[in-house]
Amino acid sequence: MNDTDSRLVRLFLTLTRIDAESFHEREMAQRLTALLAELGVRAAMDDSASKTGSDSGNLYSYIPGSPDREQEKPFLFLAHMDTVAPGRGKKAVLHEDGTITSDGQTVLGADDMTAAAAILEALRIIREENRSHRPLEVLFTTAEEAYTVGASAFDFTKIHAREAFAFDCSDRMGSYSETEPTLLSFTITVSGCAAHAGFEPEKGINALQAAARTIAKLPLGRPDDHTTLNIGTLTAGTGTNVVPEKAVLSGEIRSLIHEDALALYERTLQAAREEAERIDAAVEEHHTIHLTAYRIPPEDPALVRYQRVLSKLGVPAYSKVQYGGSDINVVRRHGIDGICIANPMYLAHTTKEYTTVSELQLLEQIVQELMLS
Ligand SMILES: [Zn+2]
Repeated sequence: MNDTDSRLVRLFLTLTRIDAESFHEREMAQRLTALLAELGVRAAMDDSASKTGSDSGNLYSYIPGSPDREQEKPFLFLAHMDTVAPGRGKKAVLHEDGTITSDGQTVLGADDMTAAAAILEALRIIREENRSHRPLEVLFTTAEEAYTVGASAFDFTKIHAREAFAFDCSDRMGSYSETEPTLLSFTITVSGCAAHAGFEPEKGINALQAAARTIAKLPLGRPDDHTTLNIGTLTAGTGTNVVPEKAVLSGEIRSLIHEDALALYERTLQAAREEAERIDAAVEEHHTIHLTAYRIPPEDPALVRYQRVLSKLGVPAYSKVQYGGSDINVVRRHGIDGICIANPMYLAHTTKEYTTVSELQLLEQIVQELMLS
């Protein structure tokens, strides 16, 4: 059996063939349930679908420890079931050099099926070889790509683990996210007054002007070394001969310091209020905090464990600042020491996404060592 025809690679290819764009994970959940059942592991789907709008709930499994270790604290392993678009009709292509790509029309789904495949294969090997392990918990989540919607709706009181490992960090193997940001998205609506632009413009209040002045005032981009601010859309007006009554700005803020994200949003809102006031317009706002920033301290038990596993496998550890979130944002919010570990997914979220067979195998070894530790 050569490497590119291993059971792990075949499993990965099988999983990537399943359509599972965010909020459409049902078929993936069914397949994972069946694969777990082959290992004698029962997967329970939670009732989060009604809250998240997905056609599937999160999938949770508890695997008792070996008789000699059943009293030990379990560890939690996470992967997300969903992909970004375009993710329908994925066709993985295994190349001779050991890279795996999509056919160029969709993402590959290495984000996050390398993780799911590695978790399943590690469990299978542990079962087959009858290796002694502590109790394990596995959580496959929905809609992670939509800012961790599935994990956010999961009932974490079910989780017994105090250490958690998610494999969802796009960087070289051995990396982990030392920090992930708070992510706040917002919509600010400026309301003025419509009027005929030619007959009685003085009766109008031009909401678009206030919105434009607001944008001009904001420190867009990277206002400091740990924060970003973007206005992504501005919609306003109904025609060239009408003074625009409404203007709607939408954007997002990311910051590695939670309070700084909140302060920058306050500043953004203040700018809008000032500009609206100048012309007697009104401001309404709506915002959502999707992620809460965290930083992993050097003594974090999950991190120390991961570093020990890497050194056993001869892989250097790298810390990484990540401006995207992961299910670990949610896990840590629930007081569980979790880290987000690199899995082989390169150019993720593009149709050029790829992985490699050798790194997929390394990931499976990392997962297995963590499970056995
Ligand atoms: Zn991911």
